[in-house]
Amino acid sequence: MKLKLIKKIDVTHDVKTFIFEAQEHIIWQPGQYLHYVLNHPNPDDREAERWFTISNAPYEVHPAITTRFANPSGSTFKKALENLKPGDEIEADGPKGKFVLEDLSNQHVFIAGGIGITPFRSILLQLAHDKQPINVDLLYANRDDNFIFDGELEEIASLNPNFRIHKFVSPKKIEENDIKALADTLKDPKYYVSGPEPMVEAFEQMLKKMGIVEENIHTDFFPGYEME
Ligand SMILES: Cc1cc2nc3c(=O)[nH]c(=O)nc-3n(C[C@H](O)[C@H](O)[C@H](O)COP(=O)(O)OP(=O)(O)OC[C@H]3O[C@@H](n4cnc5c(N)ncnc54)[C@H](O)[C@@H]3O)c2cc1C
Repeated sequence: MKLKLIKKIDVTHDVKTFIFEAQEHIIWQPGQYLHYVLNHPNPDDREAERWFTISNAPYEVHPAITTRFANPSGSTFKKALENLKPGDEIEADGPKGKFVLEDLSNQHVFIAGGIGITPFRSILLQLAHDKQPINVDLLYANRDDNFIFDGELEEIASLNPNFRIHKFVSPKKIEENDIKALADTLKDPKYYVSGPEPMVEAFEQMLKKMGIVEENIHTDFFPGYEME
């Protein structure tokens, strides 16, 4: 299907959101993603296809990409995306993905590295919009204090006492002890980890080593980025 760009929003100095109008009605669950093809002249070796979480919540109606730009060393795909103007089109298909909440009565630990916050934005905004229970501790690590979606997430936390945000600014990292201390206060939490691929793999190993069973660990990894 074709998606037409409606508008671009600067989220932080190097992160932008692209909001699209879909040619067909898309129904997605918060946490799912779309597959995109953006043909452009002289593509580099990473070529023309990518996957992006739908950073908008379903109630916002329009699908959105939120992504980081590594200017000037970024891919030709990202340059072509950044150059899209309102009215321009991109090819997409989906939605797909199982990085979705299963039972809202569960307690959840969300672990996000930088741009890995995108599925959590969609999940949390939809829960807040629907006035559903938000039983979530978000451990959020970032390279600096420009946390993506900071204002929106803080607002949800201010209205929902069972949603707590724990921030880690590099070089401070989310350590096993931070997770253990939190887990001791929660009943059989479900873990959701999202971020650059090496980060997600490291946390998956850490959680398994801590004795968390596989069915309680959900991961969403973003290839092509280094660790936060
Ligand atoms: C299910 C899923 C969901 C995803 N959701 C998101 C999301 O919501 N937001 C998001 O941003 N990403 C998401 N991703 C990752 C996304 O698809 C890209 O892989 C990622 O954004 C990196 O993009 P890029 O390759 O264009 O590199 P860039 O972002 O341009 O650059 C990233 C790094 O790679 C280096 N680099 C760029 N091009 C090259 C090259 N040709 N050769 C060597 N090094 C290079 C850059 O210098 C920089 O250090 C998701 C991936 C999956 C599988």
